[in-house]
Amino acid sequence: LSAYDLVIRNGRVGAAHGSFDADVAIAGETIAAVGRGLPPGAREIEARGLLVLPGGVDAHCHIEQVSAGGLLNADTFETATAAAAKGGTTTVISFAAQHVGLRMDEVLADYAARARRGAMVDYAFHLMVSDPTPECLGEHLPAAIRAGHRSIKAFLTYDRIKLDDEQFLDLLLVAREHGALVCVHAENHGMIRWMSRRLVEAGHVAPRFHGASHPRLAEVEAFERVAAMSALVDAPVMIFHVSTAEGAAAIRRARGAGVKLLAETCPQYLFMSVDDLDRPGMEGARFMCSPPQREAADQAALWRALELGDLQTVTSDHAPYRLDETGKFSGGPNASFKDIANGLPGLEQRLPLLFDAMVSGGGPGLDAFVALTATNPAAIYGLPTKGAIAPGKDADVALWDPGKRHVFSDANVTDGTGYTPYAGREVTGMPVLVLRRGEPIVEGGDLRAAPGSGRWLPREVSPAMRPSGRPSPDMALAARFGATL
Ligand SMILES: [Zn+2]
Repeated sequence: LSAYDLVIRNGRVGAAHGSFDADVAIAGETIAAVGRGLPPGAREIEARGLLVLPGGVDAHCHIEQVSAGGLLNADTFETATAAAAKGGTTTVISFAAQHVGLRMDEVLADYAARARRGAMVDYAFHLMVSDPTPECLGEHLPAAIRAGHRSIKAFLTYDRIKLDDEQFLDLLLVAREHGALVCVHAENHGMIRWMSRRLVEAGHVAPRFHGASHPRLAEVEAFERVAAMSALVDAPVMIFHVSTAEGAAAIRRARGAGVKLLAETCPQYLFMSVDDLDRPGMEGARFMCSPPQREAADQAALWRALELGDLQTVTSDHAPYRLDETGKFSGGPNASFKDIANGLPGLEQRLPLLFDAMVSGGGPGLDAFVALTATNPAAIYGLPTKGAIAPGKDADVALWDPGKRHVFSDANVTDGTGYTPYAGREVTGMPVLVLRRGEPIVEGGDLRAAPGSGRWLPREVSPAMRPSGRPSPDMALAARFGATL
């Protein structure tokens, strides 16, 4: 009887700090050994010429989520996680979205039930807070954090879900006290509303004006304000979807000054520009997301910021809406840009797009690809069994054929939107076999996973979540005079 259920032989193992050639042995759900000349397994896979990579971790996806307006997005846990698996992603973090008037504990139970029913990959939730009542801050959030939900999402813009600065500070304090990471959509709400109103009043309502309605300065101002609030409380913050060069520079400055900011960007900001919105009629709606795509110079700046470590991960911000009255055009077929649903599908395309640019295209390389798409997000979000090929880790393994070509098209998307903004783009390098905890969930391009076979991941406090230990002068002053905040 063999000690191993499966041995993947002679592949190149991708690792954040130095990829290497080795066999990978799996016993049950776990990676049992990594090395040369391992003893035979019950099943053997020859992987010469292939890459053996950790399954992707996508830490920002909107799955089966209901908007403040009551609109359900285009994906169930089943369709979204099928798309994830096809694209080589085996862990997702989606949202338990509290809207005003809802109890956080009930919202969380509701999303947990949906995921238990449908998820095919492993998952965790960000606790999205829109109504930080005393009960939410004092009871529901601390209980959820203690149970292993170790991240909170806040919006500083969008009517009906945005928090003001005082509420955001409250969240930072709860996260600091109980051990969680606050993630934020940071844009200046007033600037966006003001620009949008002026554009619409002047009759500029086509999708192309969405770009101008989210001023670059709205991002920079909000990042700097978030940095100040993070410093005041001494609580780390993850800034979601950085889109501008100036935004990345603001993060670099704050980090240089000792503020514990983390940050991500997304493929839409690395591969698209505001010109993608500039199409005839309503076609630009296919490409609308918030913040909007920017300029070619921003793409270069964001790649540079990833390379420098100012940004630590690339997520999809998968926000799926169909191109019909149930999604993008719920505000009517000729709605102004203000009334077109914002968000792009990208769970399936994230890894192939990045692999093509970073590995096939001679960019930053395989180690950086593994770090940004799996190892870093697993470490930041408190998922110690995910994000790397090493003994003791969950056997989440994606076998990549680095030479396999694929053309994205609306006809071959797996998620529930029925389209991809990358239609027509060819990439080189695709996953050909995906294991989730040792079980093949994609094989030869076919999905094998059962709905509900994904597992919820209780998370631990990661080093990224811990305060810097340098209290702000103001908090220190209060403490000096005996105040405990
Ligand atoms: Zn998002």
